[in-house]
Amino acid sequence: MEFLPIFFDIKGQPCCVIGGGDVAARKVAMLLHSGGKVTVVAPQLCATLKGDADKGIITYVQETFSPEHLNQAVIAIAATNDRAVNKRVSEVAKAHHIPVNVVDDPEFCSFIMPSVIDRSPVIVAVSTGGASPVLARLLRARLETLVPASYGRLASLAEKFRGKVKQHFSESGQRRIFWEKVFQGPIAEMIFAGQEEQAKGALEKAITESADTPPQGEVYLVGGGPGNPDLLTFRALRLMQQADVIVYDNLVTPQVLELTRRDADRIFVGKQRANHAMRQEEINELLVKLAKEGKRVLRLKGGDPFIFGRGGEEIETLSANQVPFQVVPGITAASGVASYAGIPLTHRDYAQACVFVTGHLKDGTMDLDWDMLARPNQTVVIYMGLLGLPVLCQQLITHGLTPSTPAAIVQQGTTPSQRVVTGTLESLPRLATDARLKPPTLIIVGKVVSLQSKLAWFKPDQGSEGNFALTRNN
Ligand code: SAH
Repeated sequence: MEFLPIFFDIKGQPCCVIGGGDVAARKVAMLLHSGGKVTVVAPQLCATLKGDADKGIITYVQETFSPEHLNQAVIAIAATNDRAVNKRVSEVAKAHHIPVNVVDDPEFCSFIMPSVIDRSPVIVAVSTGGASPVLARLLRARLETLVPASYGRLASLAEKFRGKVKQHFSESGQRRIFWEKVFQGPIAEMIFAGQEEQAKGALEKAITESADTPPQGEVYLVGGGPGNPDLLTFRALRLMQQADVIVYDNLVTPQVLELTRRDADRIFVGKQRANHAMRQEEINELLVKLAKEGKRVLRLKGGDPFIFGRGGEEIETLSANQVPFQVVPGITAASGVASYAGIPLTHRDYAQACVFVTGHLKDGTMDLDWDMLARPNQTVVIYMGLLGLPVLCQQLITHGLTPSTPAAIVQQGTTPSQRVVTGTLESLPRLATDARLKPPTLIIVGKVVSLQSKLAWFKPDQGSEGNFALTRNN
């Protein structure tokens, strides 16, 4: 190792920063964040530092650097744009054994500053030993996605219960196993989901209960987004990688499924019109059964679980059976597909409202509030509407929209197989039939559709069509 990684307590200690620009301001912020008492030495200050000085958060010495500025300092940082001054700061500091950092100049540093993932009290620091700060930042960004934002709260909870756990488990091996279970199980998930009181209660219970009580399972109802794996949330991805069983349906693309834990069991409960692989009640019961076996169950759905996803019904059963669960929102088809098709759902000039409806046909008709849907200055997004498209367009015209109202239908939006067909209420049914679209498709009706030709930015790779087909049964 080129450097000794340490965490340095500077609370209430004098820290000296030489330089008053934006780079200095970033270092000052870091020092302040760690509780340091900061003095800035510089002939002039950038706006941020000036604000800090005016508020009395930092002490400002309006001078050029001289050695006595480092009297008292426990740490020195040089961030001027004059290399000779930086070098001088470094020499003086080293002569007085004061740790010194010269920004972007490892040669003059006695310590370097890492890229930091701050989940206080948990801190992850990344350094390339000065070789490439950009690389360190990129690595940091990747780690950011892996460490949940509330990781710090988990550490604080552990700190509070540390004594109690020590009392209860005298052996350090037992304690380690106990904590590993806590940090990787439902208690940690409760913290990440913001259920702090519940987590405390569960932890109390876990300490007093005997070690051989069966593990408590749980269900994560996760929105997998519209198909493109880049559109998953951090939380979805994290849960996908820790669940023991994945229960998914046919809107989940292979590319999304691919990101679930390799050795997890995968259960397909796909739904298609009139061809349900499993009835909804059976799915609800399956989730309860798996959780009662102690498994971490990921119920993975397309889009958002609470938008035409029956997510509510599934968690009602879980709740009735006292199975812990959490819901992770996903990008719903309307939002993802419209973005990738280049159709803004609202627009100051064209649409001040947006309505999502299901176009599912029942006995050849659709049970919708047509007068509400035919209002001007709004966008109507229709899920599950391909089969009913002719009925839909006809009804909207009958209820007052002009036949020339722009309308679009988008196949497999956000994926490389995306296709967008645009027309009007009058022409779209015909155009859609000619295009032989494959499910899933989303219909968008309203003046905003006229912007599509200008705003389409996503150019799916036509060559790969089919490689990205949605899951089997489609
Ligand atoms: N919960 C999902 C919707 C489930 S209903 C969500 O929030 O998106 C299923 C319907 O969603 C499909 O019939 C289709 O209308 C729409 N849909 C989902 N993904 C889509 C995609 N990638 N492209 C086009 N339509 C999509």
